[in-house]
Order: sequence, then structure tokens, then C-alpha cells
Amino acid sequence: MSIYWNHRVKTLTPYIPGEQPREGGFIKLNTNENPYPPSPKVIEAIQKAAGEDLRLYPDPTCMELRTAIAHRYAVMPEQVFAGNGSDEVLAFAFAAFFEPSAGKALPILFPDITYSFYPVYARFWDIPFTPVPLAADFSILIEDYKHASGGVVIPNPNAPTGKALPRSDLVSLLRFYEQDREGPSRRVVLLDEAYAAFGTDLEGAPLIHEHPNLLTVHTLSKAASLAGLRVGFAIGNPELIQGLCRVRDSFNSYTLDRLAQAGAVAAILDAPYYARVNQKVIATRNRVSAALLALGYEVIPSQANFIFIRSLQRQGIQFFTFLREQGILVRHFNKPRIADFLRVSIGTDEEMDRFLEVCERCQL
Ligand code: PMP
Repeated sequence: MSIYWNHRVKTLTPYIPGEQPREGGFIKLNTNENPYPPSPKVIEAIQKAAGEDLRLYPDPTCMELRTAIAHRYAVMPEQVFAGNGSDEVLAFAFAAFFEPSAGKALPILFPDITYSFYPVYARFWDIPFTPVPLAADFSILIEDYKHASGGVVIPNPNAPTGKALPRSDLVSLLRFYEQDREGPSRRVVLLDEAYAAFGTDLEGAPLIHEHPNLLTVHTLSKAASLAGLRVGFAIGNPELIQGLCRVRDSFNSYTLDRLAQAGAVAAILDAPYYARVNQKVIATRNRVSAALLALGYEVIPSQANFIFIRSLQRQGIQFFTFLREQGILVRHFNKPRIADFLRVSIGTDEEMDRFLEVCERCQL
């Protein structure tokens, strides 16, 4: 606490990101980064952009990037917003579409076990929220979201569980919120697709044409191996996109610098490279999941680039510490229902072989 902080800052609960160790030597499976490098074309584009033009501001509209994204997703650039990581896009979306003030506004809904930044954004913007319990097997129970609310946030696949929502459930939710025309404004459904590239048939963007209250949120951090570049984007109807622009332009007109825009365009254009890389991640995930099951671990079926696992012999924190002592960093959430689980990002085959070896010893 500081006497210089205002009341808002004193009462914030900031998000704590996974550890980025300064010293090397760890097998780093704790923040869902892609274990493979970005496309060489991305590095080339960034190197080319790192010239004299850096004295000039970047394009505040990110038009080249939005055009490339629009082409890739078969939408118009007016249906695309680009931001500094999907965290920023999500923060802007909460500010733009969800009504603040508990008592006056209906709470927004998101799963009780999910990306822990959602409650942080909601508190920051004073948006009331009600966490909706997942089923015992960590599935999202879609019927529980179908009542009057201030809006919905659904990550697909969910994090940290890795479980995907059946397409029919997503469509039925969107239909419900389409019909819910009561109240002063239409309720928005935010679909966070940070990990959708690692699943089968999860892409929600085509649904924006039929559902004007759907905003899909994407990131280049995982599927495009660019966590270090900070690029995220959203796809939705132009009114939603303009809402995001109004929020952004009330903070900072230039959220994406020249290097980020150049690298992101190259990444979007090199889809074949990333299809190969991510296919490798998926194959490793499936192999490691099967091996862990054979060793007697509980493994939640994952459609993401991480797995959510439980040792039947050790508590979560003990399992976490054992792995750390062996130089393997994973993520443990000390929260009800999931304190005995660990979230393990999928690394290279060599890293995961080492991880499996340590898991085998941990069972002895
Ligand atoms: N959504 C989910 C579900 C995530 O796990 C993450 C990564 N922590 C993000 C969004 C944010 O990713 P980024 O800001 O790197 O785009």
C-alpha cells in the first residue's frame, strides 16, 4: 500500500503471469508458448522494418495487418480489430461492451475455472460478474449461461483445462443471446480463441456473419510462436470493432508498433509454416497424453497446446515442486477444485520425453 495510490489502485487485484525465469536451464512448460520458432519470414519482415522509418509513428489503423487477417478469415477489414496481445483486446472488449455498476447492471457470466484475467478485467472496469461452475469433468454446461445476463465470456478451448465446447453448444448460446433483445443494449458474447488453432474445427469467426453480437478474440502468441511480439486481434461486426476503437483511442492511438505490425502480417501470410508447426505440437500433445494415462495420471482431454493433469499419488503442489527440482517449470493454480492439477504446456518432443521420464520417477 502507498499513500500515493488512489482508492481504485488500492483495491485492485492484478493478474500474476507465469514465471519467466531469468536464469536458463529450465524446461519451460509454464506459459503456453509455442516451442518452435516463428516463421523465418516473420524475422525477415521485422528486420526489414527495423530501419529509419522507426522515427515515424506506425499506422494507427493497422490496415495492412487487418487486411491480411480479413483475407485469412474471409471477412472485411472493417470486421477486424488489432491490439497489443489478446490481453489488451479482451480488456478493451470488457470496457466497450459490458455495463459497469453492481446493483444496476446484470452480471456478466464466465466459467468458475477459466483464464484468471477475466475477473481482473471485470473488477478493473467495475463490471459485476458471476462465475458459472463447470461440470465435475470440467465441461462447460451451456444451459447455465442461458438467462438474463450482462454478457458472456467463453474461452474455446477453455484454459487451464484445455477442454473444447461442442460447436452445437456454441451455436445454441449465440441463438439464445440473439433472441435476448430486452434491456437497453444487446448482450455481447466474447469467444476467446487463444488456443483454437490446436483443436479440431473450433474456429468461431465464420459465425459472426449470422450473429452480430459475437466477437471472437485471437492471439499470435501461441499458434504463431510470437508471444514476444504482443499481437492479438478480434473479429466481429463493424459496430463491435468501432466500439473497440473508441476505447483504444481513449488510451493510446498506437498500440501496435511498426515491428509488430510487420511481423504479424508476415505471420498471417505464412499459414503453411504454422500449420506444420502446430500439427507437430498436436501430435506431441496426443502422444504425451496417452503416455501419462498409461503411467496412471489423470489427463483431461485437451484441444489446446497444453494439458491439465493430476497425479493420483501426490498433491498438486508436491508434484509441482518435484518437477521444479528436476528443472521442469509448469503452472500450478492454488484454487478450489484444481489445486491438485498442473497445467503443462506442450514443448518439443525432446523436452516432453524428459518430462515423461520425470513423471515416471514421480510415480515410484
Ligand atoms: N486468453 C487466454 C485464454 C490465455 O490463456 C491467454 C494467455 N495467457 C491470453 C488470452 C492472452 O494472450 P496474449 O495476451 O499473449 O495474446
